[in-house]
Amino acid sequence: MPEELSEKVLELLAYARENVPHYGSIPVPSPKGNLSGFPILERADIQRAGRSLQSLSGDPDEWLATSTSGTTGEPLTVFFDSPPQALEIRIILRLAKRFGVDGSPGILHLTLHAPGPSQAMVSPWGDENILTRWNLARLWQMDDRAFTGRLERAVVGRILTAKPSVFGLLADRLGDRGTSAPAALLMSGEMCPPDLRRKIEERFHCPVSSLYTMAEVGIVATECPTVANAYHCEQESCHIEILDGDVLVTPLTNRAMPLIRYRSGDQARWLESGCQCGRTAPVFELTSARSPRHLLTADGGLVAISTFMKTMISLPVNRISLAQQGPGRVRVDYRLFDLEGEGRRRGLTRESP
Ligand SMILES: [Zn+2]
Repeated sequence: MPEELSEKVLELLAYARENVPHYGSIPVPSPKGNLSGFPILERADIQRAGRSLQSLSGDPDEWLATSTSGTTGEPLTVFFDSPPQALEIRIILRLAKRFGVDGSPGILHLTLHAPGPSQAMVSPWGDENILTRWNLARLWQMDDRAFTGRLERAVVGRILTAKPSVFGLLADRLGDRGTSAPAALLMSGEMCPPDLRRKIEERFHCPVSSLYTMAEVGIVATECPTVANAYHCEQESCHIEILDGDVLVTPLTNRAMPLIRYRSGDQARWLESGCQCGRTAPVFELTSARSPRHLLTADGGLVAISTFMKTMISLPVNRISLAQQGPGRVRVDYRLFDLEGEGRRRGLTRESP
């Protein structure tokens, strides 16, 4: 495990103390020390802190707002400036290179849920190093033939990132149709059960690996190819502590809204260094992490969120939220696609017994 505080950690702490009101009174760390004297940042602290966690310098108009999915509680919104986004691309390309993917194949991040226009993020290292976020919701409503054709054209030769459940739904929907292979698949955002991973590997005929990411942080670590559930720290991106099994993360490049010692909600343990795969970065085993959630039917049955999404996505629904309001009562808020254009949106709220 990392012992001393790196230059990047010290820089971040100094920046936070000067520019972020929430951290105005944090102690000055000693380079030989660690972060144990610093308060731990809980999810609720972030909600309570509000704007006082945002930097007073920098241009908020250039920040990107990212919200967590809310599967681990109330959604959180975190603001990012551009360096973390550029670093994310760099880490993905570096990982892909280990699989022999050379050059700049382009990266597609696939989602299948709530709205937001697809957006491209341009990297400074060349025209092709672009991370494009693509919400498949509309494509999903096309017939199988159109769906397969359009998807294949977009993914061939590209590096794809998505939650394992999204890759699983894609594998189901594609079935035996289509043959074009992506360059590599990188799963992120949730743990992948072994049978789902096998299904994804069999369907897509390309290297499959896994990123340990959090929406509120970015890439924390990348999968070790030789040890199951083991991840190597991405030390340029994130400082990691494991305190009584809890993973605490300090993302290092985001100056818009620094999170210091943020309790991720995941559990892990450090493994011996000197990994067989040849990578020297500290390595840990993720023992429990955010995994796909289930819904409970009135008679107690389990419904995977991904199955529920598959149904919802076939309807012209743009955004949906569910809230249990008592035994047998769920409030459903949803918004319909406006097929006439993006300008007008219809919002509907309905309660179902
Ligand atoms: Zn390794």
